[in-house]
Amino acid sequence: MLETLSSVSKIPLVGPSYQKRLAKLEILTISDLLYHFPTRYNDFSNVLNTFSAKMGETVTVIGTITNIKNIYTKNRKRLTEAIVSDQYGNLRAIWFNQHFLTRTLKKGMTVSFSGKIDLFNYQKTLISPEYEIIKEKNQDLVHTIHTGRLVPVYPETASLSSKWLRSRISIALKTYKQKEFLPSDILKTENLIELNEALGKIHFPDRLEEAKNAAKRFAFEELFMLQLLNFYKKSEWQSKVRQQPFQIDNNKVAKLIASLPFKLTQAQQRVIKEIFTDIISTKPMNRLLEGDVGSGKTVVACIAAYVTFLNGYQTIFMAPTEILAQQHYLTITKLLEPFGIMTSLLTGSKKIKNESFKKTNIFIGTHALLYKKNLYKNPGLIIIDEQHRFGVEQRTFLAEKIAAEVPHVLTMTATPIPRSLALTFYGDLELSIIDEMPKGRKKIKTFFTPQEKRQKAYNWIEDEIVKSGYKKQAFIVYPLIEESESETMKDIRAATTEYEKLQKRFQKLKIGLLHGRLKSKEKEEIINKFKGKQIQILISTSVVEVGIDIPDATIMIIEHADRFGLAQLHQLRGRIGRNDIESYCFLFSDSNNPQVINRLFYLEKEYLGIKLSEIDLNLRGPGEVFGLKQHGLPNLKVASLTDYELIKKTKAIALKIWKQDPKLDQYPNLRDKLNNIKAKDISPN
Ligand code: ADP
Ligand code: MG
Repeated sequence: MLETLSSVSKIPLVGPSYQKRLAKLEILTISDLLYHFPTRYNDFSNVLNTFSAKMGETVTVIGTITNIKNIYTKNRKRLTEAIVSDQYGNLRAIWFNQHFLTRTLKKGMTVSFSGKIDLFNYQKTLISPEYEIIKEKNQDLVHTIHTGRLVPVYPETASLSSKWLRSRISIALKTYKQKEFLPSDILKTENLIELNEALGKIHFPDRLEEAKNAAKRFAFEELFMLQLLNFYKKSEWQSKVRQQPFQIDNNKVAKLIASLPFKLTQAQQRVIKEIFTDIISTKPMNRLLEGDVGSGKTVVACIAAYVTFLNGYQTIFMAPTEILAQQHYLTITKLLEPFGIMTSLLTGSKKIKNESFKKTNIFIGTHALLYKKNLYKNPGLIIIDEQHRFGVEQRTFLAEKIAAEVPHVLTMTATPIPRSLALTFYGDLELSIIDEMPKGRKKIKTFFTPQEKRQKAYNWIEDEIVKSGYKKQAFIVYPLIEESESETMKDIRAATTEYEKLQKRFQKLKIGLLHGRLKSKEKEEIINKFKGKQIQILISTSVVEVGIDIPDATIMIIEHADRFGLAQLHQLRGRIGRNDIESYCFLFSDSNNPQVINRLFYLEKEYLGIKLSEIDLNLRGPGEVFGLKQHGLPNLKVASLTDYELIKKTKAIALKIWKQDPKLDQYPNLRDKLNNIKAKDISPN
């Protein structure tokens, strides 16, 4: 059967409950399920008989169960013991706390067991083997999926076991064939295997080599589709026409700039020009403005909003939080009110009267702005602050549904994405980078501190805080111990242990501990104590965002700094230095690796996020530049951000196809696939 978009519910034994669990992994269709790839394989391909299986080996043994029973040991452990026999002898298998197994595994059954052979009660035993019941009489024809081969292991989730996924995927692979959508000449020239073959091999390879070969195809496919999608998004956007290109009244703009309490940096002037070039065009702008925290993006946005006003249009300015929306509101009102501009604030708790909607020139607010699309008169510019916090659907919604005429869109971010990566992954956007900080900014003095100076650093910090009359404050940040998106108990234990140690170390100071598993009430309490100076040192894991400004926090220690990317470290230290007072950041690491240490030294001399992320890109490759997922970069399954050659190649091929056959008339399957991806990309949920 040739299927692409049928629901997973068509697969036998996938009922509503499993459908729900799959949906949590964004697996809705059979195709989604087949694209849920294993993260590794257990090698159970060493098939031996009961006699030849040796101690310490991971093996598969096929035979008949001649005995199986549940046992309680003397210390009340619950064991299940089975004897599996073949023509060469017997082997014992044992499981712990799985008494339910005797309901499935019965005497007389032919089974395949895979696991490690070890000593148990002085006897050669298969410990907790995976099992599979064999129905086929002729053992040469046996096709196993859980044992006796390379067995796929899927990303762990609480509600879907690898065993269950394996069995459903194996059925789906047999029953439903997918439409190949990559052009056949590309498959040939790039030496890639066909889709259904690749799907089969990535789940159930006979040799690791086959899985690698399949992964090669999927890596190509992933980057190729991403690039192609970018070309289409961009050209679709550019096909929209604005009736009335903006005009720039240079005199008036110059007056606004002259009214600022500072001189614009070169970089600010440059990006303003770039924005102006966009908005005087008949095509709507879609630009990403990148710049460190404090680099002065807001004033750039303000100038764009002013020009929008001069052209008779409204501006909608979206901030990620209520606090930021309020801050922007105050800044922008102060700046632009003297120029006859009316600003209005709209958040969850602050409403705008309906009659004000027509009069307002600049709306500033949170998500709440999204739900008023019918009330705006004529939005001509949408500004989105902190792009990665807003979903694509919201951006699209804003851009398409809010006005009769497509407004210009300016997205701002403080995430330092190196230019080359941004061009790949936000290929549909134009890019402006503010790579200069306003003059006179105090730089956070940063030191890579060897372990033998740790106690000295502690002394210095304690003195510094005591000397200030307990006014100054410090952060101590711990990274996650394991690569994962959220804290594990291990992380919390580590931070807690340190907390207890440091309480003893800093006897004159009050110390607080903040981590992700605290209830929000408890978190709030600790943050308030820190704010109120009842706590001088706040220990926190890196996942905890201290979203509030603590101006007197001027000291930071970052532990295990080598586990962070340079750009991340830079963003962390950005939590201090919000004050005129000199700020200090100490980086600690257990590593003796000179490369690691050299990398950290860059933080002592470089103070621009974008520069640091570019250094990291060169030193470690793109995969390491960012923490997992947190920056809204595309979540690649197979392809790697590090594979520059493949990125370049797929881009060139996608461009060629898009140029030669923009409607993809020659490639209907590719067109369908692209449309599916597009639909997922912007569908509101
Ligand atoms: P961000 O890029 O993080 O949004 P802001 O726009 O909030 O930065 O600017 C941070 C601070 O720097 C503001 O107080 C702003 O007034 C000030 N600022 C902006 N541009 C300059 C400049 N060229 N010179 C001096 N100060 C500036
Ligand atoms: Mg800002």
